[in-house]
Amino acid sequence: MSKMDDLTRSTCPYCGVGCGVLLRKTDTGGLEVKGDPDHPANFGRLCSKGLALGETVGLSGRLTAPMINGNTKDWDSTLQLVADRFKETIAKHGPESVAFYLSGQMLTEDYYVANKLAKGFMGTANIDTNSRLCMASTVAGHKRAFGTDTVPGTYEDLELADVIVLTGSNLAWCHPVLYQRILAAKAQRPQMKIVVVDPRRTATCDGADLHLAIASGGDVALFNYLLAETHAQGGVNAEYVNANVDGFDAALEAAQACDVSQTGLSDADLQAFTKLWLSSEKVVTVFSQGVNQSVSGSDKVNAILNCHLATGRIGFAGSGPFSVTGQPNAMGGREVGGLANMLACHLDLENADHRHAVRQFWDAPEMPQAAGRKAVDMFRAVGRGDIKALWIIHTNPAVSMPDADAVRKAIAGCDFTVVSDVTGQTDTARLATVVLPAAAWAEKDGTVTNSDRTISRQRSVLKAPGSARADWAIIAEVGRRMGWVKAFDYENPAQIFREHAALSGIAGGFGRDFDISNKADLGTQDYDALQPFRWPDAAKQGGRFFEKGNFFTANGKGKMLPLSARSLAAPVTEAHPFRLNTGRNRDQWHTMTRTAKSARLSAHLAEPFLEIHPDDARDLGIQSADLVGVRNATGSAILRALITDRVGRGQTFAPMHWTGETAPSGRIDALVPDAVDPISGQPESKAAAVAVTRY
Ligand code: SF4
Repeated sequence: MSKMDDLTRSTCPYCGVGCGVLLRKTDTGGLEVKGDPDHPANFGRLCSKGLALGETVGLSGRLTAPMINGNTKDWDSTLQLVADRFKETIAKHGPESVAFYLSGQMLTEDYYVANKLAKGFMGTANIDTNSRLCMASTVAGHKRAFGTDTVPGTYEDLELADVIVLTGSNLAWCHPVLYQRILAAKAQRPQMKIVVVDPRRTATCDGADLHLAIASGGDVALFNYLLAETHAQGGVNAEYVNANVDGFDAALEAAQACDVSQTGLSDADLQAFTKLWLSSEKVVTVFSQGVNQSVSGSDKVNAILNCHLATGRIGFAGSGPFSVTGQPNAMGGREVGGLANMLACHLDLENADHRHAVRQFWDAPEMPQAAGRKAVDMFRAVGRGDIKALWIIHTNPAVSMPDADAVRKAIAGCDFTVVSDVTGQTDTARLATVVLPAAAWAEKDGTVTNSDRTISRQRSVLKAPGSARADWAIIAEVGRRMGWVKAFDYENPAQIFREHAALSGIAGGFGRDFDISNKADLGTQDYDALQPFRWPDAAKQGGRFFEKGNFFTANGKGKMLPLSARSLAAPVTEAHPFRLNTGRNRDQWHTMTRTAKSARLSAHLAEPFLEIHPDDARDLGIQSADLVGVRNATGSAILRALITDRVGRGQTFAPMHWTGETAPSGRIDALVPDAVDPISGQPESKAAAVAVTRY
């Protein structure tokens, strides 16, 4: 049921846990929010951000009408301008001169329509998303090892595991309800062991049996060490490898040659880790942005997958590698092909058969044959003037992209920028030619997919203010005005969901993992009442991936890769002697456009701060709560000193959320280098080199 009395079932709009919520509109137009006891992600639990959702739906700062160059306009003339400018730009400069930059905040239906318009009809593959900053390395790693971007595990596997390795993941703050589920399972089974691999002693370490304070970028060396030691101690599952895995010998040889000192860990820590890993078949390795956001991100992912493939710790309950996504619909974006190198339903843009099938299904004109520009490359192209028309939807790249000052300058100089957002007050929206008012969470309908492949409905209970519209409706209207009336003749999100589900059946025919075609005939009322469901469909695909091998590669075998660690992009130097790590706070979300509306969320950590070790603070003459200047060649910030031994000597940490220009000011991504993983295109957001001084 979508409704219980006056309660409406929906899904939290923040992290990739994807908790179910029950919403009730109050008499004064506000919103009461509580956890949905029947949702399989959270069973009623919510974290501080989810519990405060009702405090964030106020209309202050909301955009209620389209704006062109700061002036209020009507929808008709504004959308005609958008359609005309994109059409003219393509006609004059080719499809490579236009681009879309999307967001893991978008609903699947919105994402699907944007991707169809760009790749199928405008003829550009320049459509990428802020998920590039979040999990692109996981996508690349999965595809290299499994043949598809398949997350093999589920949340239940974390509860059933005997050993959980959390690497590059501050789960306690960034995916709190999932962390609560693990702690609850550990309380039931105290023999369960938790290992945290993180340079920083985060809140997640409070529940850990072992914390490996790894050197930045040391993950490939750590998992190479684990593979070599597993082999040395007789822990390889030779029967499984012979039947199901390619590449073992080369991967082992590379692992044995790897320099373990790159981990920065003691022999005792390394041995304790190996002992725990080999103590049970039921091991889940959870990985997140600390792994992905790296110039070696894809290799880090594959180093983890290598260990699971070599030992057969995959494909059964309580075991396997498990990526957790940062955003509520990063997974849905992957499903619809929202990345520059993908097509809908996990089909590959650069595979001619896949491309032909999608083109036929969409009845689309000629489609691009090569991958488009990934996020960092896209904004470089905007800066050079190669991209002349840009549409940014529900994200704030002028703050959140690496080398953010250069990105801000690039957007400011772009010939024609459209921003769709709930507010016109973001740093990015202020730079745009056109700002389109979009419906917000609790005002719009669609689906999202969480980290364990569970698709849930987001539902509207509040009226969008002014003339704000759903994103799918805005994008489809531009498609129609560009001349593709039939292809974008959508009346509601249910129609889009059905089309996507039908296309997934074609993808299934190509041996792809994502197949929800059993939902292709869903009636609009059934869509309205849709209950959370996890793909794959048990009846059609067996319910659990890789139970008997059966990887999505050409020969059905999983692929191990020979890996060696790549150097960090920004070496620490005399001028920039500190390593800067960035990440999330417990109670804020991205650039705070929503969470800053809640006084109690803002009370948790009220200002942007820099964690610095006590010995480093002493050497620099910095006292607790002093303002400190942090700078490097690309940017600077002024932050409040938080002196703590949670970070090691020479290391610092700053949150990613703040954007203001007056001290303390935390445009921290201005200091993050725009170096990327050569395979995934994901930037290295956790290892800048900076100078720190008392301000
Ligand atoms: Fe929302 Fe994530 Fe918190 Fe769940 S854990 S309530 S999805 S922010």
